[in-house]
Amino acid sequence: MNEYKNPLKKKNKKVNDTDILIIGGGITGLSCAYFLKDHNYQITLLDKGKIGMGVTSRTTAKINYLQGTIYQELEKYYGLKKSKLYLESQLEAIHFIESIVKKEKIKCDLEKVDAFLYTNEEKNISKINKEMEILKGFDIKVGEVTSLPVPEIPVLKGIVVSDTYVFHPLKYLLGLLKKIKDSVQIHEDTLVQEISLQEDGTYLISTSEGTFSSKIVIVSCHYPFFIKPGLFPLFGYLKREYVQAAKVKNPSHFTAINIDSSLKSIRFYKDYLIYGSREKKLTSSYDYEKEYKKSKEEFIHFFHQEPEYSWMNQDLMMNDSLPWIGVLDKKQPNLYIATGYQAWGMTNGTIAGKLISDLIQKKENPYEKLFSPLRTMKPNVIPALTNGFEYLKAYTKTYFDKNPKFHSKHAMILKMNGVDCGVYIDKEGKRHVVRNLCPHLKCKLVFNTLEETWDCPCHGSRFSIDGDVIEGPATFSIRIQK
Ligand SMILES: Cc1cc2nc3c(=O)[nH]c(=O)nc-3n(C[C@H](O)[C@H](O)[C@H](O)COP(=O)(O)OP(=O)(O)OC[C@H]3O[C@@H](n4cnc5c(N)ncnc54)[C@H](O)[C@@H]3O)c2cc1C
Repeated sequence: MNEYKNPLKKKNKKVNDTDILIIGGGITGLSCAYFLKDHNYQITLLDKGKIGMGVTSRTTAKINYLQGTIYQELEKYYGLKKSKLYLESQLEAIHFIESIVKKEKIKCDLEKVDAFLYTNEEKNISKINKEMEILKGFDIKVGEVTSLPVPEIPVLKGIVVSDTYVFHPLKYLLGLLKKIKDSVQIHEDTLVQEISLQEDGTYLISTSEGTFSSKIVIVSCHYPFFIKPGLFPLFGYLKREYVQAAKVKNPSHFTAINIDSSLKSIRFYKDYLIYGSREKKLTSSYDYEKEYKKSKEEFIHFFHQEPEYSWMNQDLMMNDSLPWIGVLDKKQPNLYIATGYQAWGMTNGTIAGKLISDLIQKKENPYEKLFSPLRTMKPNVIPALTNGFEYLKAYTKTYFDKNPKFHSKHAMILKMNGVDCGVYIDKEGKRHVVRNLCPHLKCKLVFNTLEETWDCPCHGSRFSIDGDVIEGPATFSIRIQK
């Protein structure tokens, strides 16, 4: 399943030996390092950028076990027992976060809040009722509501639970970093490009800064870039969401999400209301400016004020609603992966840290089988075919649309020396030219006016206007070599 290439390109660079090499310093990588740090391993953590600045820094950071209709989905695919086990994993993760914050005195604005799940569509009331029934059966106290503490948002039926949290995700990550940095070697600005299994069972990890060798590798870089290109659609897909935030007069601290065709997600941070919407499959809509405008309009419509901050973020969804945490290939028991959190990475990234730490130490963990990437996924064939078809459609579209019109007048695609280039002219009139081809699977890139990046509409790689990788799966830049 995995494709390993020869990484020995940087011949002059020294090989750095380590016991455990963690790729990615988001909530997953830092949680792994935290749970492993006191167990006599030499640990190295690499990040292509600065620690904490990946998807986790842009999340809405609800620490929640009320996660859409997950318990009924899991019951349908795997039965009630596994659905309950998933709930237990989320409660345990919440407990870990609470106790880590307390023990390590991390100042991350951790706050206990009520969490709402609701619908404003008649057809979804039965799903809300079903989720409530299941949770009650699992001994969770669930209340019924017909409104939210923000009356602007219409609700037909909802449920509310307590003992959920919110925090400032970056402050939490920086708190973890402070606690691990004496026991873990950290290399920022180090882009991992290839992983290669050696005959002696160790791994060589080739990076932009030289080669590392490790007995164990944990891939916690969000998109599992080392999976043979093209195979990931069998298991999952990316969803992108737009977030708006503004100071409001009467912040009422709670969280809420709906289960309707158009996502609405609410949390508060201090005086700020943070509102997520326009969640879409990455492959189905890549007119980012249009989605951003709609999400802004929604914010103004509901809250009668302009947002002060806007951003977007994307996360991996799995066809069977369960993350992948553990060993991906039986023949490679020392290669671990953790991803596919479906927008619930605060709990799942934390539980991944504990589970992988236990697996490495050969300790039993109740969630090993539940999250194992080796499980037989249900459902399988139809979502895999649908995802595959949509990837193909997005890929083809970028090729047929030779001269796409971007919302920004300053971004265009031009042929230069026979090569398709993405050109962006900045405010000072300077031209930034990149290769308009994603190194991952050769999709053409689309300019993202909202964040001024070149984005791949197929697998979600993102590049700066100068061609550096901002987000994988791409592991090579699109700079034009001079
Ligand atoms: C809009 C939105 C809202 C969300 N809200 C919530 C929420 O309320 N609650 C919740 O629980 N979850 C939420 N999530 C989900 C959550 O943000 C993610 O699941 C989680 O942050 C993923 O963490 P991670 O550590 O796996 O990835 P990341 O935080 O992205 O960390 C991966 C790291 O790997 C590095 N990296 C990548 N490729 C390489 C490479 N080749 N070499 C070296 N380093 C590399 C990156 O630089 C990055 O720092 C939300 C997601 C979205 C999209």
